[in-house]
Amino acid sequence: MGPTAALPLKPIRGQLTFVDANAASGALRTVVCGESYVAPARAGRHCIGATFDVADDAVDLRPDDHRRNLDRLAQLVPVLHAAFDGDRVDPATLGGRASVRWVTPDYLPLAGAVCDSAVFARRYAALARDATTHFDDVAPWLPGLYVTTGHGSRGLVTAPLLGEVIAALAFDEPAPLPVDVMRALAPTRFDARRLARSGRPPQPS
Ligand SMILES: Cc1cc2nc3c(=O)[nH]c(=O)nc-3n(C[C@H](O)[C@H](O)[C@H](O)COP(=O)(O)OP(=O)(O)OC[C@H]3O[C@@H](n4cnc5c(N)ncnc54)[C@H](O)[C@@H]3O)c2cc1C
Repeated sequence: MGPTAALPLKPIRGQLTFVDANAASGALRTVVCGESYVAPARAGRHCIGATFDVADDAVDLRPDDHRRNLDRLAQLVPVLHAAFDGDRVDPATLGGRASVRWVTPDYLPLAGAVCDSAVFARRYAALARDATTHFDDVAPWLPGLYVTTGHGSRGLVTAPLLGEVIAALAFDEPAPLPVDVMRALAPTRFDARRLARSGRPPQPS
């Protein structure tokens, strides 16, 4: 953990449900995706998902969550819900997987070098007086320490690209994204915002 312990990440629990394929469901040839999703059978079973529970980081399998996935399948593809006998199946007998999506306060992932937050706060204290203050010095990066996380619900798309970003930074190569996007992803953005907000007069409640 160490220097990355204070990154402002929060958990969103998600559970998938696995249901055995049968003659009717085997006709499904493509992923159907809406408020929920169901995938064609693989290794004899379909994957249905997923629940979305903010501020829960437990990864136990819950029958109630299987029930919620089945209920949403009933809305999405009623004929498949019927094929799985969704109203009568005992959710405690179903397989699945629960895991955690980590998200940031602005729901953008983090990718970049890690700073010493205490040194950052001291060096850029002027941000509390004027959030537009410009600095020309090199930030107090921790040598060789980079992070990418906070991929939330889209990590299958964003994690490979931001892995490239980290590799480029670590090997001092041109980053594969424009500067404004790199800034938007910088882990230090939250340190800077915290400082800028600390100087604001209290807002009327
Ligand atoms: C139910 C569910 C459905 C999802 N559906 C989609 C989807 O449809 N599309 C999509 O794009 N994304 C989806 N996601 C999100 C996607 O899975 C994540 O965004 C992605 O896996 C994040 O990748 P990651 O490598 O950053 O983190 P992870 O995949 O979480 O990997 C982190 C790894 O680090 C390991 N680790 C943690 N701490 C330490 C440590 N101290 N030392 C060593 N190892 C450590 C963990 O064990 C883990 O293996 C879904 C997530 C969930 C939970």
